[in-house]
Amino acid sequence: MQAKLNTLTEAIRYFADQQNCIDAVAALRWPDGKPVCPKCNAAEGERKHYWLATQKRWKCYECRKQFSVKVGTIFEDSALPLDVWLTTLWMLCNCKNGVSSYEIGRATGIAQKSAWFVLQRLRHILKTVQPVPLGNGPVEIDETFIGPKPINMHREKRLALKIAANGYAEKTAVMGLLDRGTREVRAMVIPNVKRTTLQEKILEHVGFGSTVYTDGWPGYDRMDAMRYIHETVNHATEYVRGEVSTQAIENFWSCLKRTLTGTYVAVEAFHLDLYLNEQMYRFNNRKDMNDGKRFTKALSQISGKRLTWNQLTGKEAASR
Ligand SMILES: [Zn+2]
Repeated sequence: MQAKLNTLTEAIRYFADQQNCIDAVAALRWPDGKPVCPKCNAAEGERKHYWLATQKRWKCYECRKQFSVKVGTIFEDSALPLDVWLTTLWMLCNCKNGVSSYEIGRATGIAQKSAWFVLQRLRHILKTVQPVPLGNGPVEIDETFIGPKPINMHREKRLALKIAANGYAEKTAVMGLLDRGTREVRAMVIPNVKRTTLQEKILEHVGFGSTVYTDGWPGYDRMDAMRYIHETVNHATEYVRGEVSTQAIENFWSCLKRTLTGTYVAVEAFHLDLYLNEQMYRFNNRKDMNDGKRFTKALSQISGKRLTWNQLTGKEAASR
């Protein structure tokens, strides 16, 4: 992107020009400035594509097909203009407590339902694959439960969610791991909080020999046998013992819950992973970042990730 954007107002002004949107997306998809034809992958050499200024598309010399900057990205198949997508992405990356589909609908003039779909697709691209195991510093590990607050709910909604008379509703278990060295957090929906489930995730995400801090939940028992240095705090009597605590991951939980209950009125368990992507993205990209950088990094993740309506609504499994 040529322009240096710092604020939401600057972003809205800049993206009001369609060509600026196309240039911004193209620059991140093809950093060398040479668009690649998604049909035949022709990229090398001279004069492989030419720009059709009126159609705002490229035409490929090789296969004679036309393609727009949206093809092969999360924006494909969307009739919405790019400025709506980019402005929404800016807000999603940078609003500390998230942004609802109602707010996006009002801000951009699109229907709330369309705004919801735009946001869900964007949450999908915020997922970052982290191949490096945690363990740079001590790793705090904790689990929490996310679920509806039946007391605030209309009777019909309570019945629909099969909430028992005692107010108990089915909640979704979420596990979180936070590396104090890198300040990176990873959070994921888990089927239960049994030892095998928790420890499988720890083996997957934490390097051997690392120090891990947990509370006294029996699911974390016998981790020293798995080549970890394991310290616990007993939450019945203490919250901090010297360096040992799980306060940083608990702080992440309170941010997450504030977003989920404040901005997003009801989040179904099925969609929780997408909201975790969003929360992790903002949390993991707050040091040495500003709004413009956070947005640019997210935009660089658009290629090759698609999410259709059927995948979003659970009728079909997401491919990536
Ligand atoms: Zn081609």
